[in-house]
Amino acid sequence: MKIALFGAGGNVGSALAPALEAAGHDVVDGREGVEGCEAAVDFTRPDSVEGNVERCLAAGVPVVIGTTGFDAAAVDARARETGVPCFHAPNFSVGAALMMRFAEEASRSFPQAVIVELHHETKRDAPSGTAKATAERMGTAPAIHSVRLPGLVAHQEVVFGGPGETLTIRHDTTSREAFVPGVLLALEKISELPPGLTVGLDALSG
Ligand code: NAP
Repeated sequence: MKIALFGAGGNVGSALAPALEAAGHDVVDGREGVEGCEAAVDFTRPDSVEGNVERCLAAGVPVVIGTTGFDAAAVDARARETGVPCFHAPNFSVGAALMMRFAEEASRSFPQAVIVELHHETKRDAPSGTAKATAERMGTAPAIHSVRLPGLVAHQEVVFGGPGETLTIRHDTTSREAFVPGVLLALEKISELPPGLTVGLDALSG
């Protein structure tokens, strides 16, 4: 598939581009245009997403969005208007998807919990999209603490407390290659999705 990649020079994009090529895709830089592309992938900045998506929607190109902290309602509305499917996962790694699922289940037994999310010091949004999505799935309004430090990649703990016990669910991303399988799956499935913005890897597994 010919894919326009927005953010090819970034932390994630520079790991993703060779992995997409290795999977047989033809990758072009989204900044140079999206015409003739069958899909686009965006790992940029929250304030860049809407402009990039708009260019794709105008050309009828479906978009897989990895960037977090953007206005999802606005993207959903524009994608519906133009009849083009878009997909976003706040976290494309398999382990993070499982962490969110386990946290949702644990919150039924432990209503008191906190989320601690830890990321590299250049991450722009806080709390992280993964932490917000986890909290939403838990439905118990856990406090979220954000840590930004050099040496970190992307990590999250969900700590549950009850009488006489605690339970900690922890996920660590040690390399950006963790995001590759989820992005490949989204690219494979995106043409089957309805117009608008579909959110979460769980929506692709059915
Ligand atoms: P990064 O290292 O800052 O890279 C962002 C890249 O986007 C830069 O190369 C930047 O280029 C480029 N860029 C900015 N605006 C652009 C535009 N309009 N068109 C094309 N390229 C543009 O950031 P990162 O660590 O790769 O993370 C990128 C985003 O993905 C963040 O929002 C992060 O939270 C998110 N993320 C999501 C997941 C997930 O699984 N969903 C995983 C990791 C990260 P210039 O510097 O030249 O502007």
